[in-house]
Amino acid sequence: MSRTTEAAVLYQTGQPLRLIELTLPALKPGQLIVEVAYSGVCGSQLLEARGRRGLDRFLPHTMGHEGSGTVVEVGEGVTKVRPGDRVVLSWIRGSGAEVPSTVYTSADGPVNSGAITTFQRLTVTCENRVTPLLERMPLREAALLGCAVPTGCGVILNTLKVEPGSSVAIFGVGGIGLTAVLAADMTGAAKIIAVDLKVHKLEQAQRLGATHLINAAQDDPFQRILEITDGMGVDYSVEAAGNSGAMMTAFRSVRDNSGVCVLAGNVAAGQKICIDPFDLIRGKRIVGTWGGESIPERDFTRYAELFISGKLHLERLITHTYPLRDVNRALDDLEDGKVGRALIEMR
Ligand SMILES: [Zn+2]
Repeated sequence: MSRTTEAAVLYQTGQPLRLIELTLPALKPGQLIVEVAYSGVCGSQLLEARGRRGLDRFLPHTMGHEGSGTVVEVGEGVTKVRPGDRVVLSWIRGSGAEVPSTVYTSADGPVNSGAITTFQRLTVTCENRVTPLLERMPLREAALLGCAVPTGCGVILNTLKVEPGSSVAIFGVGGIGLTAVLAADMTGAAKIIAVDLKVHKLEQAQRLGATHLINAAQDDPFQRILEITDGMGVDYSVEAAGNSGAMMTAFRSVRDNSGVCVLAGNVAAGQKICIDPFDLIRGKRIVGTWGGESIPERDFTRYAELFISGKLHLERLITHTYPLRDVNRALDDLEDGKVGRALIEMR
């Protein structure tokens, strides 16, 4: 008997996801089935659902790329986990088999899926997208280990290696930006400047450790950052808004000689940024990041331990929880800037 599951499927970009029943295919070697407990909702799914990634050749397809759950069944050759193991589901590749795609069946025909999707109760994924969880790590916060935390913490701890006493400006304080604020606070950064257009998001950043707030709807972030840093600029900046204008400002805002700007946000396909090469000559640097350079086997456990020991307050990031049937409302609320990190709870 093949298994079936409820899933949120994108049939057409710009249209709401449809909740339908899917039949799971037989597992290929290296694949496994996970019963999803929680899925995160991030800007990446919003770009996909709204068609801002350009032409989508995979429609209809399942969605979501971070979550947590329990392994139900493993295919041939899977040794990393066993049925009953609690795992993080992440788009970031870890060790083990890579099986890039899956096709589900439905009453309306086939539905495509990548190596991992999470807006569904049961998911077929592959060995390298799951990481076993520490026993004391709750599934709710564990869902954030799939994308927001590795990217937000990884940018601060791995990409930038922020030192105590330094200054950091974070542009866009949604899920990834807020996690970066938490991580910067944990490292002992002296100035943590949150930049956003929404007052309630700035207030949330303040509760998570931001020392200075800049409302970019009212003030010029570049000028304010110079005032806050005695005209020097910040040691580090992180762009997590996915806005090309913010990316340019984030780069200008770092100090000469040693300042580093990291781009962590996703912009819509085709958007470009423009920078002054003289800023590069003066020693400002700009880099991108792929999941905060986090390595699942090494870092997911490290971030979970920081949470369990009370140093990294991941519970504060979760502002909204929705049942699966409200997945479209979750995407709308994310688009309206209402949420920090939103979770879909499957039960
Ligand atoms: Zn994501």
